Amino acid sequence: MIPYATINRRALLGGLAGTALLPLTGRAAFAGTPLNVVATTGMIADAARQVGGDQVTVRALMGPGVDPHAYRQTRSDIVAMTRADLVLWHGLYLEAQMQEFFHDLARKRRVVAVADGLPRDVLRAHDDYADKFDPHVWMAPDLWKRVVEQVQLALSDARPEAADVFAANATAHLADLDALATYAAQSLAQIPPQARVLVTAHDAFGYFGAAYGLEVMGIQGISTESEAGLNRISTLVDTLVDRRIGAVFVESSVSDRNMRALIEGAASRGHQVRIGGELFSDAMGAEGTYEGTYIGMIDHNVTVIAGALGADVPPRGMSGRLSAGS
Ligand SMILES: [Zn+2]
Repeated sequence: MIPYATINRRALLGGLAGTALLPLTGRAAFAGTPLNVVATTGMIADAARQVGGDQVTVRALMGPGVDPHAYRQTRSDIVAMTRADLVLWHGLYLEAQMQEFFHDLARKRRVVAVADGLPRDVLRAHDDYADKFDPHVWMAPDLWKRVVEQVQLALSDARPEAADVFAANATAHLADLDALATYAAQSLAQIPPQARVLVTAHDAFGYFGAAYGLEVMGIQGISTESEAGLNRISTLVDTLVDRRIGAVFVESSVSDRNMRALIEGAASRGHQVRIGGELFSDAMGAEGTYEGTYIGMIDHNVTVIAGALGADVPPRGMSGRLSAGS
């Protein structure tokens, strides 16, 4: 139970009030009361906020810097999901530690795995599991648009009377995602041919690389569950040295220990590699900041990667191109 004093304090915070207050009513949502939505990742929560507008309150379980491959639900997460009108998770084995929990929850609550709705022919194979796919679809805005459409469907199913509102909000957001994809393509196209290699802490950038013509190499695989072996690090050191790769990238949700080993390995062979910047791979930036939105996250990644690999891009290059009101 949330103490009364806490509720009052939260109510004063305006927009946040619904998240705290709604579960206490314990009844199904009705028109006029925002739909109580719980999402696993920040990216899915952002999509639900963009499409849901003032018809929803959204809580993300995984904050900045949290690794979804390793995350397990906490006691307060379980309470929030049990009280939610709609629970959105990613699927495609991203939340590997929560699979069973969601399958159980789906028997009792309205639960949707939003990326599971994507057609298989747009998905990349998973290196570690023959029967699974690479879950990092948010890395390519054109693919993420399909997930946003799945979020729109899920919200409309949960609240049919607001379907028109969700459709209008989705149309506006999809237009912004088109602008983001255009900005990304234009910026990344400026990287010179010999520098079109993206070395990161884990293999989160497969869709990004495929969309924008960059070769990607992760120290760890598609999931962070398995440790990188010494072999992998020494192979990558060879690649950095042989191809004179000048910059590598750390990730906000993965330890930089392996990356330091890589840089030291190259240095011991007389090749200096610098850290091109920190990327948001599996979690967004801090809540309330530009990088704490999906568009800000991808804009940051595009701008940092393009700049570090030799393109001429303005900081937050995308932010002037959004539709009014975003
Ligand atoms: Zn990942």
